[in-house]
Amino acid sequence: MRHTSLFAPPGDVPCCLASVLDPTDCTCWRRVVAPHPTTQVQAGPSPVRGRRCGDCAYRPDSPERQANDGDRPRFVPEHVFYCHDGLPKTVAWVHPSGAVRMADEDDDYAPIIWSGRVWQADGRPALVCAGWAADNRGYYAARDRPGTPR
Ligand SMILES: [Zn+2]
Repeated sequence: MRHTSLFAPPGDVPCCLASVLDPTDCTCWRRVVAPHPTTQVQAGPSPVRGRRCGDCAYRPDSPERQANDGDRPRFVPEHVFYCHDGLPKTVAWVHPSGAVRMADEDDDYAPIIWSGRVWQADGRPALVCAGWAADNRGYYAARDRPGTPR
């Protein structure tokens, strides 16, 4: 997701075509992530995390659930939800002028996504969220229960 307050640094406008029209639309900023992601991803399945992580979106007190009136994240069977553990995270933004903006709470993880799957920064397949996996098991158990209409 693009950061909403990455305006062109004063004195450097116009730095790009977009900033000619509106400095708040500057497209020069580049994301800096850590850990630095590899270009070599490993084969193999994405393991399911054994337990929910410390700030799992499925925990009742998570910011995601607080923002959603306490409801669990919406379960979509074909959209696997991955744990953020080991994913590259935005730590800063740099502008060609030399300006640096440190990441804040609006910044996000920047996972390696390839062929619809997610990998950790070191190239291992990302862990499937334990909360999502529990919903997934429940969904298929209910769907496959004898007598359930198809
Ligand atoms: Zn610019």
